[in-house]
Amino acid sequence: MKKIVVVGGGTAGWLAANHLGKKFKDNAEITVTLIESPDIAPIGVGEGTVPKIRQTLSSFGISETQFIRECDVTFKQSIKFVNWMDKQKHGSDNFFHHLFDAPDKFAEDLTPYWLKHGQGNRYADMLSPQHSACELNKAPKSITTPEYEGTLGYAYHLNAAKFANLLCNNAVDKFAVEHLKAHIVDVELNNDGAIAALVTKEIGKLEYDFYLDCTGFESLLLGKALNVPFIEKSKELLVNSALVVQVPTQEEDEIPPYTVATAHQAGWIWDIALTNRRGVGFVYSNNHMSDDEAKTKLDHYLKGNPSELTYRKLPMKVGHREKFWHKNCVSLGLAQGFLEPLEATSILLTDFAAGFLADRFPESEEQMLMLEQRFNHVMGYAWDRVVDFIKLHYCISDRTDSTFWLDNKKEETIPVMLRKRLKLWEQFNPQKEDFFSKFEIFDYDNYLYLLYGMCYQTKLAPLSSRYHEKAKAKADSIQAIAAQLSLRLPNHRELINKIKLYGLQNI
Ligand SMILES: Cc1cc2nc3c(=O)[nH]c(=O)nc-3n(C[C@H](O)[C@H](O)[C@H](O)COP(=O)(O)OP(=O)(O)OC[C@H]3O[C@@H](n4cnc5c(N)ncnc54)[C@H](O)[C@@H]3O)c2cc1C
Repeated sequence: MKKIVVVGGGTAGWLAANHLGKKFKDNAEITVTLIESPDIAPIGVGEGTVPKIRQTLSSFGISETQFIRECDVTFKQSIKFVNWMDKQKHGSDNFFHHLFDAPDKFAEDLTPYWLKHGQGNRYADMLSPQHSACELNKAPKSITTPEYEGTLGYAYHLNAAKFANLLCNNAVDKFAVEHLKAHIVDVELNNDGAIAALVTKEIGKLEYDFYLDCTGFESLLLGKALNVPFIEKSKELLVNSALVVQVPTQEEDEIPPYTVATAHQAGWIWDIALTNRRGVGFVYSNNHMSDDEAKTKLDHYLKGNPSELTYRKLPMKVGHREKFWHKNCVSLGLAQGFLEPLEATSILLTDFAAGFLADRFPESEEQMLMLEQRFNHVMGYAWDRVVDFIKLHYCISDRTDSTFWLDNKKEETIPVMLRKRLKLWEQFNPQKEDFFSKFEIFDYDNYLYLLYGMCYQTKLAPLSSRYHEKAKAKADSIQAIAAQLSLRLPNHRELINKIKLYGLQNI
């Protein structure tokens, strides 16, 4: 395996090029090339990330200051879910946070305490000081905190086009990745069904040993050329359309340090604030709401003057390929599959898969089959668990105000493993052991924030007075830390402005 090609220059392609470029930068025998079509732009959405991206960017040698300056970056500490619960029971504009800060060891055990005493209070607020930091628009760190480190856990909101550009420059300059602009018009296979060559409009035929399909929803190599079937997940996850728009903001506007996800009758709306604009997307099931109605509702959400804005309709193909590695081809990003952007899992899965591939890359055809099976097994497990976690948001909601919410609760739409876990958690609050695989994309903490953010009803076990005292002391100390942090942490926009001026401390 000497010549590797990545086809596609969106976020997926450039993440893969960096992972592989870094792996082989000192190996003169192996080359990595990225080809992207000059005629097809990357999809240009995908502005929310999860904390793992910090580790990845740091490992690529990208300075956090440079990234923040070049990609209109803001900090993301949470997803704030608004109106995901019945307005009659929980009030209009009811909300909960899915925080990025993992509760500390004892705080995890606060769940029984909250079940007994805390249900009038927000679960996340009891577990982590990050809840109040978010509500106060605080940054997760200060100007003296070293790059990629935080007082509180965080990820980013970013401009997808500028991010691809930064990753491109990094891969080309640091890892000597070759960058070609050419439109692929045909894919040639050899006798055993593996890919033999790409035929391009501009440069003719190009031959490689190993191919990465990062061609977005096209899935030009794995889907079209190699005919790997697509597994629909639209029975479980009902939303399948998005209407997206960019709304300019003013320099003095506050920047929420979280994504806002507001539920509506047939889906939800994302609202992501960058430094100079908001990215807003109305996500819906077109089996439950017409395109016209979606547009009217989005206009209503935006208030102001929506006639000046440009809307883009994006269909979403919900599901993933049956396998992700076939012969000498691996797909990543949207070419691998897509569910919906609710928990910003697409870049995460791409990054995870690209890193996993680079860690153990086949040196020869003999190694390929073993690695192919391992990759498909792990990625299949990861996709199934993402389906579970996204579905959780819909199926435990007590909203019943439309067929969309009622359909989402039908037992046959809930994946089997999730159904079993939910039954278990009716009797016992979740334990770490319930998440036995190292490849749980969403783990124990994530489930806790979701389940109890949405007031999931777990039977209460008897609590000892000793536990009770310890739990109360812990809950009080978390509130005290929250009060200190509210004084110590800077305002979110203030910190972004400072980073642009002075930069963060280098690692
Ligand atoms: C509505 C929506 C919202 C989303 N929000 C999020 C989010 O908040 N967080 C998140 O993690 N993810 C999100 N995603 C997913 C995210 O957009 C993708 O994971 C990310 O942009 C990567 O896309 P990609 O690189 O796979 O494909 P694309 O960006 O579509 O890139 C495809 C590339 O393939 C090339 N190509 C295609 N055909 C050819 C050809 N014939 N020859 C040569 N090159 C070709 C194109 O030129 C392009 O460079 C969202 C997706 C959608 C649809």
